[in-house]
Amino acid sequence: MSEREYRSKRDFRQTREPRGDSDRSGSDASPVFVIQKHDASSLHYDFRLEIDGVLKSWAVPKGPSTDPRDKRLAIPTEDHPLDYADFEGVIPEDEYGGGTVMIWDRGSFRNITEKDGDKQPLDRAWENGHLLVELDGQKIYGGYALQRTGSGEKDNWLLIKMDDATADARQNPVSTENESAKTGRTMREIEQDESSSES
Ligand code: MN
Repeated sequence: MSEREYRSKRDFRQTREPRGDSDRSGSDASPVFVIQKHDASSLHYDFRLEIDGVLKSWAVPKGPSTDPRDKRLAIPTEDHPLDYADFEGVIPEDEYGGGTVMIWDRGSFRNITEKDGDKQPLDRAWENGHLLVELDGQKIYGGYALQRTGSGEKDNWLLIKMDDATADARQNPVSTENESAKTGRTMREIEQDESSSES
């Protein structure tokens, strides 16, 4: 599901989401991840990882857990441009994905995927439907596994906290952390700011 699909779904005269024409290729920086809380027709968390110059994306209805016993459904969605990682605001109601978007968490990550004892590159790991990443966010950190449940491109994935030193079944950041990692705003404040800037 390509970036072309991302563009075809949106009318950029109506939405302030980025078109995605910036170029970060050749950058030596660590890859980025972002988790965007998205109050669309149903509330979900969009989990995105920088792989091969785009943001590979999943919609996670319940958001990430810090408990390794939880298997969180992660529905693959179209690749998003890298500059989408910086988007926070309101998508007009009649546009695709209309609703409020918060940068709930973001940071860099490290690929820790191995296969038969060898390090597996991110793009291969993604194609194979099994990747292990170490996230370095403000709310979410440590190891997470993403596992595809079948062999097709449209098959769902599971997002599972790895049983490492950062695992903690008593925490539940999705319910306790309600402010933007970028601006400190709540969902309501993002909505209010946007409607007052238009009037
Ligand atoms: Mn979404």
